[in-house]
Amino acid sequence: MREKIKEIKNEIEAFSAKSAEELEQFRIKYLSKKGKLSSLFDDFKQIANEERKEVGSLLNDLKNAAQEKINNLKQKFEASQSAVGNDTDLTLPADAVEIGSRHPLSITRAKIVEIFSRIGFTVSEGPEIEDDWHIFTALNFPEEHPARDMQDTFFIHKNPDVALRTHTSSVQVRTMETEKPPIRKLFPGRVYRNEAISARAHCFFHQVEGLYVDKYVSFADLRQVLLYFAKEMFGDGTRIRLRPSYFPFTEPSAEMDISCFLCGGKGCPFCKHTGWVEILGCGMVDPSVLENCHIDSKVYSGYAFGMGIERITNLKYRVKDIRMFSENDVRFLKQFSPVI
Ligand SMILES: [Zn+2]
Repeated sequence: MREKIKEIKNEIEAFSAKSAEELEQFRIKYLSKKGKLSSLFDDFKQIANEERKEVGSLLNDLKNAAQEKINNLKQKFEASQSAVGNDTDLTLPADAVEIGSRHPLSITRAKIVEIFSRIGFTVSEGPEIEDDWHIFTALNFPEEHPARDMQDTFFIHKNPDVALRTHTSSVQVRTMETEKPPIRKLFPGRVYRNEAISARAHCFFHQVEGLYVDKYVSFADLRQVLLYFAKEMFGDGTRIRLRPSYFPFTEPSAEMDISCFLCGGKGCPFCKHTGWVEILGCGMVDPSVLENCHIDSKVYSGYAFGMGIERITNLKYRVKDIRMFSENDVRFLKQFSPVI
């Protein structure tokens, strides 16, 4: 064993490399897992106890010598490389940096948040994996209620209480449970539904909901805020129309249409000749929802509204296929760069 060590030591000392490749070969030959030193260390396990101390220290010296040799030669190569200089011309202009653009849904989301933030709304977010209480029960969807069918989602088979949220209303519940009125919040986020994927529907999409709870909040406040939003988002001449509707968590409830921004309300193929385009759902928060969240419905009232970010983006930028938002096709995304 001692002789072997000595022999390898001589080899290492005698070694000199002309190139970095040669040096790498040397490293593999001696220091890699299957190298000469590894096999020596394997042999070392079999030698007698009384020899261990001495041979062990010889082995370590050998390993250090090999490592040192590599380090020295490496330094030498690096130094000579920079001394020779290279062909880089530092005065050449750099390659253009590809600057990405914001995703169209992010642009729309930011615009909605910005419009509402001007009248005092702040943003809250919540978990996408939710429990039944926050998605359905607290919002007046009793078990077995047919309204649940409209929002079929993804459940965990073993624990149906856990589900992917179908709307960001779950964050409204979380907010009302933990904060005291006045509450003036926006809830943007991703939501999930068990839908067949097509040009018009996807198993995930994005919403922004809004909630205002305070004393004496009325339907007139809701209407005025939505009119303000429609004008800011779609142009000053935009008019709104509220149609009675049904949601389990608001009473009364309404769908809001805006006057078609292409034909100004005269009727065109885009608005299917009606002059109106549907954009969101809204209503006064049902008193029982307030009570579920420990807010006294005799003292406080509130309104809520919710819209699909994809829907608003489709309307604003005339995107015809909702799948394009999640396909990451740069040819599609690039078109939004000037709108930032
Ligand atoms: Zn039209």
